[in-house]
Amino acid sequence: MKKRKQAGNRPDFMKVHQLLTQSLGEADKLHQSSPLAHCRTSLEILVATMLTQATSDRNALTAWHRFQKAYPRLELAVEAGADALAEVIRPAGMAAQRSRAILAVLNKVREDFGDYSLDNLADDPERAWQYLTALPGVGPKTAACTMLFGFHHPFFPVDVHIERIVKRMGWVQPKMPPAEIQAVIGPMIPAHIVADLHILLLNLGRKYCRPTRPDCAHCPLSGECPGAEFA
Ligand code: SF4
Repeated sequence: MKKRKQAGNRPDFMKVHQLLTQSLGEADKLHQSSPLAHCRTSLEILVATMLTQATSDRNALTAWHRFQKAYPRLELAVEAGADALAEVIRPAGMAAQRSRAILAVLNKVREDFGDYSLDNLADDPERAWQYLTALPGVGPKTAACTMLFGFHHPFFPVDVHIERIVKRMGWVQPKMPPAEIQAVIGPMIPAHIVADLHILLLNLGRKYCRPTRPDCAHCPLSGECPGAEFA
């Protein structure tokens, strides 16, 4: 029988990365199912991340491909207006609400920087974080995705899957909110594996560490996980 870790130990993220890669495959390949892997600029990353909120990657990817086909340049989405944009991104769900939120962000960026670009923020992580989290409809997870995949700064986005896993793994206290988890766990992860670990844990949450009836018996982290008693 495998010896299980007790909650509260400092996580060995390199080992977790290795176990997850062996079981799930390379993070880069897994990432291809996300719209974030099909973006050209940091502002596109931000918009694509807004499409992933509260929907599946499959629906978000379909919506993002439709967006890119309809609007090869972001200003074309603004010119088209909220109703047309909502129709284009309908596969992602909550289309009217999402459309208004995306246009509000694009208009604000244009107003602040004179262009549909976040390039001015790329080299200043603190300013970028302050700016992104102050945008309408942009929460800490969406901002962290933009920091990580848009600017390549080692921010660790925490969504519902990752929140569930890090709590079951005992890496944080059970009542810690997602924004605090990001701030606590992010700096503990070696910078060069932050993106990989985010992608791998997301996939672990979908395949094994599901909200109900997690498959601990087959989970690659079961030997590291005090929450494996869920099995
Ligand atoms: S062992 Fe179970 S609770 Fe722990 S991470 Fe794996 S699936 Fe989740």
